[in-house]
Amino acid sequence: MKKLLKIPVLIIGGGVTGTGIARDLALRGIHCLVIEKGNINDGASGRNHGLLHSGARYVGSDPDSAAECARESQILKKIAPHCIEDTGGLYVAVQGDDPTYIANFPPLCKQAGINCQSLSVQEALTLEPALSKRTIAAFRVNDASVDPFHLSLENMNQAIEHGAKYYSNCQAIEFILDKKRPGKQSITKVRVRNNLTGNCFNITPGVVVNAAGAWAGIVANLAGISLDMIYSKGTLLVTHNRITTHVINRLRPAADGDILVPGRTVSIFGTTSTRIDNLDDIHPEFTETDFLVAQGAQMVPGLETARYIRAYAGVRPLVSRKDAPKGDDRAVSRGFYLFDHAKDQTKNQPTENQVDNLVTITGGKVTTYRLMAEKTADLVAEKLGISTPCSTADTPLISRAPSKLIEAGMSVKLWAKDPSPGDSMMCECEMVPKSHFKELLTWLKQNRETADLNSLRIHSRLGKGACQGTFCSLRVTGLMYDETYIKGSQGLDNIKFLLEERFKGQKPVLWGSQLAQAELNEGIFCSFFGLDMADQNRVDNDMVDQDMANPGIKGQANGK
Ligand SMILES: Cc1cc2nc3c(=O)[nH]c(=O)nc-3n(C[C@H](O)[C@H](O)[C@H](O)COP(=O)(O)OP(=O)(O)OC[C@H]3O[C@@H](n4cnc5c(N)ncnc54)[C@H](O)[C@@H]3O)c2cc1C
Repeated sequence: MKKLLKIPVLIIGGGVTGTGIARDLALRGIHCLVIEKGNINDGASGRNHGLLHSGARYVGSDPDSAAECARESQILKKIAPHCIEDTGGLYVAVQGDDPTYIANFPPLCKQAGINCQSLSVQEALTLEPALSKRTIAAFRVNDASVDPFHLSLENMNQAIEHGAKYYSNCQAIEFILDKKRPGKQSITKVRVRNNLTGNCFNITPGVVVNAAGAWAGIVANLAGISLDMIYSKGTLLVTHNRITTHVINRLRPAADGDILVPGRTVSIFGTTSTRIDNLDDIHPEFTETDFLVAQGAQMVPGLETARYIRAYAGVRPLVSRKDAPKGDDRAVSRGFYLFDHAKDQTKNQPTENQVDNLVTITGGKVTTYRLMAEKTADLVAEKLGISTPCSTADTPLISRAPSKLIEAGMSVKLWAKDPSPGDSMMCECEMVPKSHFKELLTWLKQNRETADLNSLRIHSRLGKGACQGTFCSLRVTGLMYDETYIKGSQGLDNIKFLLEERFKGQKPVLWGSQLAQAELNEGIFCSFFGLDMADQNRVDNDMVDQDMANPGIKGQANGK
């Protein structure tokens, strides 16, 4: 029998925007459900630089976005300090960079209301000894580093504490429209597929919020609405350790390989901007890796010889703008777009082909997600006739979840402060002890989330250090068996999935030490444990199990 679920607001997409909207609505007392086709931050929110923009990057190209970033980053620093590291940022130019751009930078920052302090080259090199000796100009701005996983999880956790619901691995696949009134349609049912089981169920929504990021056009299309989206892929590299303490930006018009962000124990370097057509095949290319390293080394020479532990790619959800120059996706606005599909999108007037209860929010940045959520929740509240105002700019974003464990280096601080006798270390790269995984597993179960290696990866630092899951995956799987979270062959499936996913990220950076690391991993899991033969072994075991259960049949077969 099909399940039918009634919910005032259905949010499609569990990125920072969707979870931010859930938090905003829940704080206003409006019930909502977030459905995500994978897991939290499976889209761009989990595949970005983690730069909390001061706005300085956009002062030349998009002053409105620049000013928006300046305001929103201050709010996020106030409400979510535990998700942010206030590193500060440096803009540096090297020999050969455009002197006009350098001269224009401080006045442009001033116009957008962005703090910008001029530094001598010597001051910059003292602050960041890793900078190139060919540096010719430097400015200090208020950039910071944000952990987007921590941010989205905290959004969702706080929303759940205020009555919201979250379904992972659930994908909106069809909208059923009420077409009784010509030209005035509304979504009466949303058909949802559970991507783990393949089962489908229907949701009856009051209002549907399309927060599907780069997939927003595909989701809008389920209602017959066409959105002109541009898919701009960006590739990023993760270094083995932290290379600088500040965010380092190249002082030139936005280009490839010009931002280095310290992200807890590592640094994240990128990015590229390549137009793509297919959202199902997003991966970093070897050529991008080589190009990025060559570009970055001009600014920070150590990037040439650094050990990289993985690469990843994400797609920016950009909305096509008719006046954007062809071929350069950086010229497409990084601002956000909120569409009320009850109205004509260009004139904001009632339209012939309206869908009363659908809104789409897309574009923007992690830095501006809270504002995007506020504007969307205002529109949803208006549609529901609710006047409770937004409170997200003043309400601290701190939930009761064991979220400290997601912070790299946090476990070691806690461990050093309060070492519990008898506790053992499960992850040496990120120093996470057994007791912390136990706590997280209990929390996942209490919150009806799947307690498996992938969920643990999302909610903690598992698999994120230099060994990319080689040792922690084994130890934590053992713990999950001991504590009866998994049984049978689930452990093998868990490890295989985690390592295969981690390997995708390692492939483009396999040289030097990381190649040796990957070979060790292969030696342990393939040669020693035979994980590459796991599927075959499972078939053989299943046959043995069946034989044991049906000895008569076996006897007959043997008799032949
Ligand atoms: C390479 C790169 C670097 C970036 N760097 C920065 C940065 O440093 N700072 C910054 O502020 N911003 C940065 N951004 C921008 C930022 O990452 C995005 O703007 C932001 O994460 C978008 O969030 P979102 O929730 O709107 O979309 P997403 O995070 O993409 O979330 C959409 C979600 O919807 C889900 N979904 C799609 N279809 C369905 C469906 N039918 N049913 C259910 N779920 C569905 C997807 O699985 C996905 O999880 C960067 C982006 C990229 C690509």
